[in-house]
Amino acid sequence: MVKAVVGACWGDEGKGKITDMLAEDSDIVVRFQGGANAGHTIVNDYGKFALHLLPSGSFNRNVTNMIGNGVALDIPQLVKEIEDVVSKGVPRPNIVVSERAQVLMPYHKLFDQYEEERLSDRQFGSTKSGIAPFFSDKFSKIGFQVWELFEEERLREKIKNVLEVKNLMLEHIYHKPAIDADELYATCKEYAGMIKPYVIDSVAFMHNAIKEGKTILLEGQLGSLKDPDFGIYPMTTSSSTLAGYGAIGAGIPPYEIKEIITVVKAYSSAVGAGAFVSEIFGDEADELRRRGGDGGEYGATTGRPRRMGWFDCVASRYGCRVQGTTAVAFTVLDVLGYLDEIPVCVGYEIDGEVTRDFPTTGRLERAKPVLKVLPGWKQDIRGIKKYEDLPQNCRNYIEFIERELEVPIKIVSNGPARHDIIMR
Ligand code: GDP
Repeated sequence: MVKAVVGACWGDEGKGKITDMLAEDSDIVVRFQGGANAGHTIVNDYGKFALHLLPSGSFNRNVTNMIGNGVALDIPQLVKEIEDVVSKGVPRPNIVVSERAQVLMPYHKLFDQYEEERLSDRQFGSTKSGIAPFFSDKFSKIGFQVWELFEEERLREKIKNVLEVKNLMLEHIYHKPAIDADELYATCKEYAGMIKPYVIDSVAFMHNAIKEGKTILLEGQLGSLKDPDFGIYPMTTSSSTLAGYGAIGAGIPPYEIKEIITVVKAYSSAVGAGAFVSEIFGDEADELRRRGGDGGEYGATTGRPRRMGWFDCVASRYGCRVQGTTAVAFTVLDVLGYLDEIPVCVGYEIDGEVTRDFPTTGRLERAKPVLKVLPGWKQDIRGIKKYEDLPQNCRNYIEFIERELEVPIKIVSNGPARHDIIMR
């Protein structure tokens, strides 16, 4: 049984928490895309953790955590995260890494940084984790799959070839120092030693796991609106954030994904540049940011303050649709308990017309939010375990949004901890 846990919007919806919770009853958790460029914050019995590359099943002894072939594998970062959780008392997680995952090279981070510098005020707001240069290289067929680290002669030759063009770019476009082939080779050998204990044939592994009826979670990073095809292109990420891509990035048949749990946050937040129709500013935004998430809405990877906004029905419905959502997990609802009234964005006004359909980026940038104001519940809802025990206005808010999303909200999250959950 394969389930995907993915995000509906810009990311930071609370996927980490939902995955950590569902991992309790799972055998395998797989990261299938992205890299160390975003973070999940997880609060459980061991403490509070910011994971970037480690799958969110890492706190469960019974779970095997896989880095799938679709991930940008930053080897030192992965090893650092493993050692970090172990040093905080978590039993050493079971980690396996696909031999077909590609390796994020030190120069990917450099090129990410140099390109943002070159773009100056036109920059994408990259986290500078090397993700865009990494995926460009993957699809230009000059990336390195993990197995290549172990084929010495071939590795040496390929490094030489790849550096030919990289060094031309460094010299002529960015005016930066060249990369030395011997040094890079030595780094790759170091990487090989670090990753060796984890490397597996992931296709065989997943095939057998499915045959044995294991429960498998595919863990997405970011959300629908950051997908390179369906998101707010070009202010997107560089690998698909959709559950459908889980089949590719984890190496399983598409028809095996039986449930798609899309995580939707009770208000909006975004990081990086790009259109954000229901965005709010000033004191209103500061207050929501301060109260939001668990200890404020600041990026788990970068510490950057997140951009804040009201719930966006247009974006979230579209986000659920492109994921192929079978159930919604509605998160961070407790945060809204301070508001007398809660505006939600129910339409976009574009060039004088109101639409409920999410547009392409050009029209999106001209969209103005059409707001509807719902009454607040003015109560702390943390600790409530049963749906019926939620205040009436809170249930009304959930049910209003459920109608807008056109998919059932089956999980409500009313606090950051693993068991702050209401099942419907
Ligand atoms: P992810 O990348 O989708 O996993 O999201 P992040 O971890 O970046 O952001 C979610 C933040 O909200 C984290 O700080 C979580 O601890 C926190 N969080 C998750 N669910 C809830 C919830 O129901 N209530 C509150 N208050 N915080 C939550």
